[in-house]
Amino acid sequence: MKALIPRSEGELGGPFITVEDDRFHVLAEREEALVIEFSDAPPEIAWLDDFEMLYCQRQHDSGTIKVIRKATEEERKRFRIPLWIQGEDVPECCGQPMHFVGQIDDDNICAERPEGAELWWHDVASFYVFSCAKCLGCKAVGQQY
Ligand SMILES: [Zn+2]
Repeated sequence: MKALIPRSEGELGGPFITVEDDRFHVLAEREEALVIEFSDAPPEIAWLDDFEMLYCQRQHDSGTIKVIRKATEEERKRFRIPLWIQGEDVPECCGQPMHFVGQIDDDNICAERPEGAELWWHDVASFYVFSCAKCLGCKAVGQQY
């Protein structure tokens, strides 16, 4: 798969830089839309950085995608992409990887240590909720710096 990246942000008519998929990976896709991130963004493209989530659309030639813009927070939710603090850690249930439901970050919850707690999450911590598409079982994964 190849990605076309507009040289200037928002100039979807081109000119483009064409990049092979050894420099990016697909985080999620839904129909014709994809969210990708570059591990090795082309230095000649000033408007994007490595590991920035980018909203893309599949072109008629399905081996090519076009980078449209930086993905929004809303798109990250809609595409169910966790923002891992540590490495990716997707639990399994019924023999399959579970589906990401959503993420709770500690700036949205009480971060105070409960009274008597021996250990507690310090900032920055995030909790990732997953569900099984076979049995509706739920699991959470916690990560912190
Ligand atoms: Zn299950």
